Amino acid sequence: MLDRDLFVAKCFFDIGTGESVTTTDNKKYLELVQLNLGKWFLGHFCELAKQQGVSIFSVMKFSGTLEHLSSMDKLGITISAFAHFAYEYSKHKLVFADIQGSPMTVNGHDGMVLFDLMTHTVTSYGNQLHHSVNDSGIGNHGKDGIKIFMQQHQCDYICVNMGLPSIVNTHGDEA
Ligand SMILES: [Zn+2]
Repeated sequence: MLDRDLFVAKCFFDIGTGESVTTTDNKKYLELVQLNLGKWFLGHFCELAKQQGVSIFSVMKFSGTLEHLSSMDKLGITISAFAHFAYEYSKHKLVFADIQGSPMTVNGHDGMVLFDLMTHTVTSYGNQLHHSVNDSGIGNHGKDGIKIFMQQHQCDYICVNMGLPSIVNTHGDEA
């Protein structure tokens, strides 16, 4: 929970356990898993909402693969601050992209369930997380993806009040 909003992050699995799985296969498989997993959960989510008579909104998109636009409303600003937080918390090695979600009420709290997040990561970060984060699909633009976030993100009051440092182009020399 963040400021009464509920967030769900998807984690990536390293399925490359052995001999026969190549990096290319792994990427293809992970991408397939990502797509199908998202669809699968969303399908069941909508089904359950219908069964329970819960009214849900259509999916809201907060960022694209290479688009991190500033937002005027509190929800958008919160999501944007979350992306900035993840960037700082990962020591500038990870950026969330393709952030989308659906508003819903959980335990009496109105919130936003996020799903189908993609990540832009630098290579070394995958090892630190013990997952193949950097092989998380073709949407991962690595350092370029991170750089675009740094160029596009605009801090709002939530970033500032949470004490997140303003983003400087720390990857400029490496790109
Ligand atoms: Zn910020």
